[in-house]
Amino acid sequence: MKIERVVKKFYDGLAEHKIYARRCKECGAIEYPPRYACNTCGYHETEWVELSGRGKLHSIILPATLNADPWNAKIGPYCYGIVEAEEGVKFNATVFGVSRKKAKEWRNQLPLPVHALFAEKDGFTTLFWQVDEDAMQEAAPDRK
Ligand SMILES: [Zn+2]
Repeated sequence: MKIERVVKKFYDGLAEHKIYARRCKECGAIEYPPRYACNTCGYHETEWVELSGRGKLHSIILPATLNADPWNAKIGPYCYGIVEAEEGVKFNATVFGVSRKKAKEWRNQLPLPVHALFAEKDGFTTLFWQVDEDAMQEAAPDRK
């Protein structure tokens, strides 16, 4: 029952373009996707926190033909990779704005700044991520 409520709160949050996670009351570790217990220290109590929607992309895995998602491809070029949220938690994510050409260049510049991107997919608001090219240019104004 508790798990169903966690899932509902999470999806209701996404519909409002909010990313909910759980923070351990004992060690402060963030659980995302949200779970009731802490995976870091095993403590049983966690509380809701909202993630900022900013993070860093640590790896770039381009979709191969076999795992390509036709829905994603309609939105634009994308990759899979490990995103680390500002709050310190890491997870697998789908990240838009990464073409094959850019992936080649950006692999040497990891981690890349990314921000949350909410999209309606199959009737649900789904959380994706997008490379924050503006932030990259601010960090390195001379880079072409
Ligand atoms: Zn903990």
